[in-house]
Amino acid sequence: MLTPAQAETLIEQHLACLPIESLPLTQTAGAVLRENIYAERDHPPFDRVAMDGIALSASAAGTHSGRLRVSGTQNAGDPPQTLADGGSCIEIMTGAMLPVGCDAVVPVEQVQRSGDIAEIGRKPVLPWQNVHRRGSDCQQGSLLLSAGTRLTAPEVAIAAGAGMARLRVSAQPMIVVISTGNELVEPGEIIEPHQVRRSNAYGITASLRQHGFARVADDHVRDEEASLTERLSFHLRTHDVLILSGGVSMGKLDLVPKVLEKLGVGLVFHHVAQRPGKPMWFGVSQTGPAVFALPGNPVSTLVCLARFVLPALRAAMGQASSENPRIALTAPVEVKAPLAFYMPVRLRSDDWGRTSAEPCPTNGSGDFTALAGTDGFVELPPGPNTFPKGFVARFYHW
Ligand code: AMP
Ligand code: MG
Repeated sequence: MLTPAQAETLIEQHLACLPIESLPLTQTAGAVLRENIYAERDHPPFDRVAMDGIALSASAAGTHSGRLRVSGTQNAGDPPQTLADGGSCIEIMTGAMLPVGCDAVVPVEQVQRSGDIAEIGRKPVLPWQNVHRRGSDCQQGSLLLSAGTRLTAPEVAIAAGAGMARLRVSAQPMIVVISTGNELVEPGEIIEPHQVRRSNAYGITASLRQHGFARVADDHVRDEEASLTERLSFHLRTHDVLILSGGVSMGKLDLVPKVLEKLGVGLVFHHVAQRPGKPMWFGVSQTGPAVFALPGNPVSTLVCLARFVLPALRAAMGQASSENPRIALTAPVEVKAPLAFYMPVRLRSDDWGRTSAEPCPTNGSGDFTALAGTDGFVELPPGPNTFPKGFVARFYHW
């Protein structure tokens, strides 16, 4: 049976990269950039005044005993004025271009004004004090953002600063979440004692939205070959990614693998040496869409989603991969089976700012009520083994 790492590699190898679309800058938060962004101009683009005050010539200021004539005012956005002579200064605002002939700014708090005379005392004025010099942050044409970067607030601001009105980013995948099972009943509907709430689809959809995937549809299909064939065939024609829950185990009504293969979805793997989530199925349709069929037990579904589906969606969007953090356990964990084990955890931060993972065991893969307040899970190597307090394992966020 495949290890989780092998399953992850196979998924990556079989995923197609999503197409590029051009979006207005305001729509790009959370998107993955698919082009490089270069500096339009030097940063700052001119010698930028960094304090409100007076602009002057540092060397001349000393020779005029700190008493200068204010010859004018220059606001941010004004073209630069020219200093008349060393005995003058120009009232200046933060963000303005340094006037011609000036090389320093004295803050308003250190200036005594009476009429058009500004007194700055005897404190020496240093050349370039309170001036953010042109090109000191970066030069025109330098690489600011690389393709593969996920755009958060700073990156969107940087792209705006480079003059980009639109950005080429990965198109969002069209995802459909499909729950299967005759026993499932929608929240809000009357439920019989032998029935179960359809909770997985809501958990999966919440996770996808939380991770920035906006084009998410939802469907439910009974465990009937004809309806599964009809609905899955429709979704394979209309979506890039299908995420199913339930119907992939060994039961008589676990029809999902059979129907998918009948519809031309090539099996990449069925079963991963992991607990929970062993029956996970993954395949790719001849026509393109990827299909993740996750086991229906609610803990298995959420674990498989965070461990395999979310990273795969990020990779398909061209996001540069980054390793998950490794975090130490706050208490020992016993793993009984020769399978990788996913232990739900709550993250804790100690007085020294170190993060550790507090194990939050569930009562099996059906016990999703135990997940409330957890941050994700750690992946422990196959047992049998007791992993001591302090054992370092890879962490996955929900
Ligand atoms: P299955 O993988 O279809 O054999 O389902 C395993 C267990 O998960 C069964 O107890 C199902 O009732 C339960 N289950 C399956 N799908 C869902 C769902 N969408 N929401 C909540 N529980 C589910
Ligand atoms: Mg089922």
